[in-house]
Amino acid sequence: MQDAIIIGAGITGLTAAYLLKKRSQKIVVLEKLAKTGGPISTIREKGFLVETGPNSLLLPDRWCESFLSELDLTEELLESNSYAKKRYIVKNGRPIAVPSTPVQAISTPLFSLKAKLGFLAEPFRRPISKEAAESETVASFVSRRMGYEFLDYAIDPFVSGVYAGNAHELILKHAFPLMRSFEDEGKSIIRGAIKRKKRQKADGSAYKKRSITFKQGLATLPQTLTSILGDAIHKESSVKSIQKENQGWTLTWEKNGQLFKQSCRKLIVSIPSHAVKRLPWPSEIQTTLDSSPDLVFPAVHSLSLGFKRSDIKHPLDGFGALVPSKEKRDILGVLFCSSIYGNRAPQNNCLLTVMIGGRRRPDQANLDEIELEKIALRELKSLIGLSGEPVFKSLSSWPRAIPQYDQAFTPWKDAIDKIEDSNPGLYFGGNCIDGIAMGASILSGKRLSEIKA
Ligand SMILES: Cc1cc2nc3c(=O)[nH]c(=O)nc-3n(C[C@H](O)[C@H](O)[C@H](O)COP(=O)(O)OP(=O)(O)OC[C@H]3O[C@@H](n4cnc5c(N)ncnc54)[C@H](O)[C@@H]3O)c2cc1C
Repeated sequence: MQDAIIIGAGITGLTAAYLLKKRSQKIVVLEKLAKTGGPISTIREKGFLVETGPNSLLLPDRWCESFLSELDLTEELLESNSYAKKRYIVKNGRPIAVPSTPVQAISTPLFSLKAKLGFLAEPFRRPISKEAAESETVASFVSRRMGYEFLDYAIDPFVSGVYAGNAHELILKHAFPLMRSFEDEGKSIIRGAIKRKKRQKADGSAYKKRSITFKQGLATLPQTLTSILGDAIHKESSVKSIQKENQGWTLTWEKNGQLFKQSCRKLIVSIPSHAVKRLPWPSEIQTTLDSSPDLVFPAVHSLSLGFKRSDIKHPLDGFGALVPSKEKRDILGVLFCSSIYGNRAPQNNCLLTVMIGGRRRPDQANLDEIELEKIALRELKSLIGLSGEPVFKSLSSWPRAIPQYDQAFTPWKDAIDKIEDSNPGLYFGGNCIDGIAMGASILSGKRLSEIKA
């Protein structure tokens, strides 16, 4: 009898498995693919170091830092360069730095004078009713509190950069719970943020989030966990049956044409919602899942291109440039990868990653490499003064990239809660439940490991 079986060896499942193993629990991890870590994957080619999926891990709290040091990864950590704090947003066809000081906020051409005066009134705008807040979209919240310009030239591109999503569809309460809590607790974003800061200062929980990677790329983290977990991980495994028993669960799975069977006290599921729905569940669980909607996962292309540094006019002195929907361009944005972290490109070269598609442009989902490169080069020429041809290319297309916390999220999460309530020992986590950032998935793995079966 295993203490736990974990389905899915993304960063959530790996973290949960590691923490359980650390407590001498007997565990098995079942992964469908030949690799672990989900979209977290790093390649090195021609002196370029490319992240094919996520580019940065924003450490959410002190526990996450201690987790990395416990894995002996402190020496491997690579902090983002200080000028990567600068972010650009495209307006009228050119990248404009997002203001980071009050003086810059006054003088920035990103917003009109009317919009700037409108921000100052934010603390005095009345909050929405509790009932309406339940289903309020990000776009409604931001336009109501900060005005339409702030929505169009700050939040819309930010939402594309983080979720590859649409602010008019994401539900604030699920997609940005901290923002919702500001209005709930402080009656305004500004007052809520000040209140939270004071509380954190008083109880010592204040933590300055840090954006990091590893010297050899983000794949270092899943690779480290995978090697610690060793043969507890069964890759290329396909779950064939899940049976509920008096004392827990019995699963069978197929691997290399062979059938395996194990029982466990705790069954942890950390796979995408569409994959959850396709597992061979007992009928009563399947019926509940069938009655809930699936989450939307828009397609995203991540096209990494290396150039001679001298072929780009822009100083590339920032994290990258995000493109608002209003600008009606063909890319979601571009990351200045070799400016964010050192060692991403050979000397006198630079590495950029262009993001294309997302919920904004479903028509781009099936574009091929030639078409995507054409789009990227055309946009880079116009936006950052590219004049040369790429010296390096690497395309990763994600047909289902990031789950959208839109109106389907509430019924989906209700179904999962109902299943957990009526099936002791069965728990769900990962980026379809606990948040879409890598940091949120690490904390999801921690949460799952701490539940007592
Ligand atoms: C292109 C892209 C860029 C991103 N950029 C960032 C970023 O810069 N920063 C950031 O914080 N986050 C980023 N994210 C989001 C972040 O990478 C993910 O949300 C996070 O890694 C999800 O981890 P998870 O373990 O919850 O899920 P997943 O990584 O999806 O793990 C699920 C695992 O389950 C496996 N699986 C699926 N079905 C089955 C099955 N039936 N049986 C067994 N195994 C199964 C999958 O193969 C996978 O290994 C990005 C995501 C993408 C796609």
